[in-house]
Amino acid sequence: MQLDALWQFMQVDMDADRFEAKMRQSENRQKLIKQRNFLMEQQTNMKKLESDISVMKDRLEAIGDESVRLEKVLNGLLADIETNPPKDADDAAQKMEAVKKLLNTLTRYEHELQKMRQDSENRDRQQKEIRVRAAKTKVEYDQLKKQYDVEFKSDSEKLNQMRANIEQEAKRVDAKLLERYHAIKQHCTPPMARLINGQCSGCFMSLPSATMLVLKDKDKIVECDNCGRIIYAED
Ligand SMILES: [Zn+2]
Repeated sequence: MQLDALWQFMQVDMDADRFEAKMRQSENRQKLIKQRNFLMEQQTNMKKLESDISVMKDRLEAIGDESVRLEKVLNGLLADIETNPPKDADDAAQKMEAVKKLLNTLTRYEHELQKMRQDSENRDRQQKEIRVRAAKTKVEYDQLKKQYDVEFKSDSEKLNQMRANIEQEAKRVDAKLLERYHAIKQHCTPPMARLINGQCSGCFMSLPSATMLVLKDKDKIVECDNCGRIIYAED
């Protein structure tokens, strides 16, 4: 009986599929994927911090240069006031105004520098934290990877054995029928269903009496009208 052989084939085929799914869902594998994603995230954060720090350094340098220049102007102005004291009240007010303006700008720069130094310290601290976290995760990852490699090797061997069994069982099934099985499996798995109380046990639809009659002929292959599975009627 062709269908008995196909039913037998399906058991080993489904076993292998289930085992493969279990391998993919392995706790160690899921953990490794999470850790790898975390490490990649830290790399992105690091790059962002490095780029922020480089922009800040440029700005620090620019402000530093500008402060030095303004201080020179201020000192020149103060020296000028000493050598040429103001002629009258208006002149004095004008010179004071110029000094005040320079001092205000220098104070603003000083505040900005302070804020940037603080930002820079924060970023340094963030970088250190990221490095520590990443290093810790990398150690855990490497340890787990070693464990997982052993697990994967043994599981792969088992899966290969299962695949060899599938090939053995496939030899006992008609090639055309096997092709049909695989086509059904594309959209419906498992691709065969037992006939139980006149129903397809895959989708629980009752089979029409005409189909039930066809099923009496053991050499006819019948697919469920509703779900498309091959109906397997035991004696
Ligand atoms: Zn069905």
